[in-house]
This record gives sequence, structure tokens and C-alpha cells, in this order.
Amino acid sequence: MELFKQRIEELKKEIKRHNKAYYEEDTPTISDYEYDELYRELKKLEELYPEYITSDSPTQTVGSKGGTKLKEIKHRYRLYSLDNSNNIKDLKQWYDRMKREYPEGKVEIVSELKIDGLACALTYKNGELQIGATRGDGITGEVITENIKEIKNIPQKIKSRIDIEVRGEVYMPLEAFEKLNESQRKKGGKEFANPRNAASGSLRQDDAKITGERELKFFAYAAIFPNGDSPKTHFEILQMLKEEGFTVNENAKKHDSIESVERYCKYWETERNKLNYATDGIVVKVNDIYKQNELGYTSRAPKWATAYKFPPEETESELIDIEIGVGKTGAITPVGILKPVKLAGTIVKRASLHNFEEIERLHINIGDKVIIKKAAEIIPKVIRKSNQKIDNGVYERPKYCPSCKTKLVKPEGEVILYCPNSKSCPAQIKERIEFWCSKEGMDIDGMGESIVQEAVEKGIIKDIADIYTLKEEDLMQIGLIKEKSAQNLMKSIEKSKSRPLKNFITSLSIKLVGKETAELIANEFSTLERIKEATIEELKDIDGIGEKVGRSIVEYFRDEENKKILRKLKEYGVNPQSAANAIISNKFKNMTFVITGTLTEPRSKFEAKIKSMGGKISSTVSKKTTYVLCGENPGSKFDKAVSLGVIIIDEKKFTEMVEDDEQTRQNNRNQRN
Ligand code: NAD
Repeated sequence: MELFKQRIEELKKEIKRHNKAYYEEDTPTISDYEYDELYRELKKLEELYPEYITSDSPTQTVGSKGGTKLKEIKHRYRLYSLDNSNNIKDLKQWYDRMKREYPEGKVEIVSELKIDGLACALTYKNGELQIGATRGDGITGEVITENIKEIKNIPQKIKSRIDIEVRGEVYMPLEAFEKLNESQRKKGGKEFANPRNAASGSLRQDDAKITGERELKFFAYAAIFPNGDSPKTHFEILQMLKEEGFTVNENAKKHDSIESVERYCKYWETERNKLNYATDGIVVKVNDIYKQNELGYTSRAPKWATAYKFPPEETESELIDIEIGVGKTGAITPVGILKPVKLAGTIVKRASLHNFEEIERLHINIGDKVIIKKAAEIIPKVIRKSNQKIDNGVYERPKYCPSCKTKLVKPEGEVILYCPNSKSCPAQIKERIEFWCSKEGMDIDGMGESIVQEAVEKGIIKDIADIYTLKEEDLMQIGLIKEKSAQNLMKSIEKSKSRPLKNFITSLSIKLVGKETAELIANEFSTLERIKEATIEELKDIDGIGEKVGRSIVEYFRDEENKKILRKLKEYGVNPQSAANAIISNKFKNMTFVITGTLTEPRSKFEAKIKSMGGKISSTVSKKTTYVLCGENPGSKFDKAVSLGVIIIDEKKFTEMVEDDEQTRQNNRNQRN
């Protein structure tokens, strides 16, 4: 029992983490299929042990509120998710349940394509669009009215002067998706894993103009009539929406048997490849609106509808070449070059082969027929060799780096081959600079792949620190950059100087240190200075960091070349911001400071220092005040402190206290070493 409870808790935690990445950041890290497997496992366990169901369980809630800076809105009528299954048997069971509810007569069903986008609610008053909102968690959504107005096939005025809430899916057509990722790649911007995430990221923008550039579209699939004048069936509502000026998907169909629904599902399983938008399943709904209202909802989904999800798509292609890539840390990765083939709506030309052990495990070579599958990553992966009679042997591991010809190494216990020439391998240098500039890194907008490539080739940039010595004239030497973009680029470079510490650490391309590890160490040590001095033991104390990663971090900061680059970055004013509100010592714990008078530096600096040492700031002096930090020309707070007998310190004394604490911490560290 305890074991199941523990598994339920684990699953809830894991699913919530994926929900955040998917709904708030539009960056899933697992495929929908894998996510649905986790979800179904949780659902099954909760059915067996209902005593462990909690109201915050992902099986009881819908999506997520948002996570952007957009304004929130409480929906007048709640929006729901859909129960789903990936097998026809469950669909039949759902249909049997519906029939049991209405034994006296037939239950007519409407099936529709499940569009892979995001649900939105559009409120029209007197025929005019008033509010556009995302579904969010179904109770609260994000206001996207201005963004909605940028979607060309959404009417701002409908034919009839009625009040109506129209619901539907905002999606990104496949062609627009390919175009967007291509341009993001060139700019060094964020690429999206699938059209659904791209639609969500493009719609939930503070700047509606960006939404306008992204060529989004809308399919209307439901409506609510606040004045109670709804047509009697769902099919009639679809018809009416079309007449009012909305785009309604043409493929909706009425059925009066489950066999007919099954045929529809099977048909679209393959035919969906011919569509110019992504669909991840079929939605089946009870047609009669009166019956829908009678059947009602669970806390998460309507009982009168369900979804059949298509199995993940696999397809066959031929491996025409294997490209050997050199990553930013020298990792050598093989990428399969394929005979172009359509998969899940997009044309696939490349597929991941992970590493050479994987190639050996799959026993594949150039010329083989292989099966590829789409997961959450941008490029699909080769999952196995197709059945074929000829054995082409196995692709041989390379011995030398394709970029600098250095002999490759395989560290003990690792599966990956590395080029050890991190200092001067041109491919590694270029990759590191490119990554430094990327969104995930220091977010230097405009400094994308092609610009970095040219700048490195022309010798304008040799390492990451060189970026901060660039002048407008230097940038103009790069063919793709015009005056205006050079000015913007200079601004982005300047802005990047104060990126958060976690991004700075990620951007350094330390071996085995990705975004999550970087965040862990930034949170633990708070400042770059402290990270630089961290020992393997201290690093290993962090939950989630092991010996190998700890060693890699320590080695990175001990390396003379890296030290030189870090010194240069500091000199050029790159000053990563400590983890927000990070507390680096307890020196001022339980102490309250009041600041008065003019100090030699902005007050905010002193406040931040006090907070980072565990202290609190107050604006009024009272008996509870520990110290009054007093500058030139103090105000009445000084007199009050005197009258209450509160200790008054000047800036010199304060600095001494801070330095004293730094010295103590340094001594402790030395002792630990
Ligand atoms: P859902 O996408 O499974 O189904 C509900 C949604 O379907 C509705 O909100 C609506 O937006 C949409 N829809 C499309 N066409 C429709 C139509 N014709 N009629 C009615 N609705 C239609 O549910 P969800 O709650 O939005 O998301 C859950 C799903 O999202 C999961 O099953 C999974 O596939 C995916 N997900 C993936 C990850 C990940 O990490 N990969 C994380 C979270 C969610």
C-alpha cells in the first residue's frame, strides 16, 4: 500500500513538472505519448486507491493557469480538458456507458479531428469580439484579445448581433511551423518541438505584433449561448458557427454506431498525414446538447465526450549518410541523414543516432533501411533497423575529430566520444559561442547561427569574451548585418551582461553541466565567486550532483585558459546576477536594518547586501530595529534611533562587518579544503 502511495506521489510530481514545461514554457522534455503513459499509470493507481486522490492531482485538474506576464481572467463558463485513451476498446466502453444512460433511444455521436493547438474562448457581445482568452486551468485563463485580433480567420464581427462565447483551437499550420523554426534557428531564437507548442508560444506574447507574424489559424468547435438560445445539437452549432463567419473543420461526421466511429478513427490514423495541420486524435461527442447537459462533467473533463489518441507515428526511410557533429563540450554525435520522408506531418531529413554505442546496438550502417519515430525533441530518432536481408555491417566509430583532426577519446564509464582539443577545435569554439548567445544562454537577440559562424570565420570573435569588445563597426563587417541591426545587437550584448547567474553558468558549456545543474549550483552558491571556489565535496552535497559532475565543474574553474576568459568577462562588465534573494550567510539573521541619509552607493545595493546576509530592511525605526545605517545628512530616523537607544553605524562600520563575514566564510572554506 505504502509503495503505491509513494508511486502516486512520484507520478504526481513528475507530471506536474512536465505540465510546467509544456503549458508554461512551451518546451516539453518528453513526448506526448510518454506523458500520456505516465498520466494513465497515475489514473489507474488512483482508481485502485481512491483514498490517495488529492484535489491537486493532475487527474483532477486542467492544464495550467499560464506563466506569462499576460493579464489573467476568470472564465464566465468553465473550460475543460478531455479524457482520452489510445485504444478503441476504451472508446467502445465509453460509448456503452452513454448507451446505458439512454436505454430507451439511440445516442447520436459526432466525431471530429482533435486539432493539436491550444483551446481559446472568444466572447462576442452584440456580435462583436470583446475578449479572447486562453483555456489556462479552465477556471482562469490569460487575456489574449489583441493577439486574437491578429489571427486572420477569426472574425472580429460576426453576422448576427448576438451574445455568444465561441470555443476552438488556435493552431499553427505545418508550413508556418517549419518556416518559424527555420527563422528561429537562423536568429538563434527558441525552436519549438511541435506545432502545438509553437502555437502556444506565439499566441501568448505580450507583443501582439509577434503573434501576427506567426500565421496562426483557428478552428471553432463549440459555443455557449448566455441567453439560452442554443441550437439543439452540436452538429447544428458547428453549422451555425460556419454561417457566422468562423472556420469550422470540414471533417466532422455524425455516427449512430461505434463501428462507424471506429472506421473514422482508423481512416484518419493514416490520412492525417495529408493535412496541413497537426492532429493528435479524434474527439467524439454526444450530439444532443440537452443530453450533454444531463451527462455533465467531472472536475476535469466532460462525461459526454472523449478522445481517441493516435499511436505515435513511425515510418521507414533509408540512411543515406551519417554526419559527425562536434558539440560545444567536444562530444562527438552522429546524426543520420535520411532520404526525405513525411512523418507526423513534417518532412524529415535528419534523425538522431545518439552515440556510437547506440549505432552498434542497432547494428546499422549507411545504406540501411531504418525506422524513425518522433519524440519531444526537434529531430526524430532512429529506433531500429527495418527488416532487411542484406547485412551492411556496422558504421565504424571515427578515430579523429572531423573539425581539428585530434585523436578522439572516450572517458572511462562514459558512452560518448570526445574531441579533447577544447581550446582550439574550431567546431567546439563556434558551438560554444553560438550557445553562449542563444536564448537558453545569455540571450543575445540577433546573434544567431549564421552571424556567429561568419564572425568566427572572419576572426572577429575568437572566444566568448570577445563578444563584449565588439563595436558597431566590427558588426558591420558581417555580411548579414545592417546598421540598424548592428545597433540593436549592441544593445542585446549590453543587456546580456546582467543575465541571471544560472544562465551564465549554463552558457559556459562546462562538460556535463546543463541548465538544471547550473540552476542547482547557482541557487546553492549564489555568486560566481563562490562557485569558482567550490570543492568537489561541497558540490556533491547538492542533491542531484554527483562525483563526475562535481569534478568537471572544479576542473573547469581551475583551468588557466578558462580563468583567463572569466577574468576578461569580468573586466568587460559581464556581471551575472545572483540567484534572486539568495542568502549567502546568516550574519544578519534575525536583525532588522533601517537606512537613513546619503550613502556613497545607491541604497538598493546596501539593501541587497543586508538581505543576502539574512537580514531584514524596515523603513521605520522602532525598538525592534537592530541597526540604523546612517549616511550623510540623516533624517529624523537618526533622532528616533538616538531616543530609542538603537545602535547607529556608519558606512565604514557596515563595510567592516561585511568584510569580516566574507573573511570568516573564506577561512571556513579553506579549512574544508
Ligand atoms: P488534450 O489536448 O488531451 O485534450 C483537450 C483539448 O483538446 C481541449 O482543451 C482542446 O484544446 C483540444 N481540442 C482539439 N480539438 C478539439 C475538438 N475538435 N473538440 C474539442 N476539443 C478539442 O488535453 P490538455 O489538457 O490540453 O492536454 C493534455 C495533453 O497534452 C496530454 O494528453 C499530452 O498529450 C499533452 N501534454 C504533454 C506534455 C509533455 O510533456 N509532452 C505535458 C503536458 C501535456
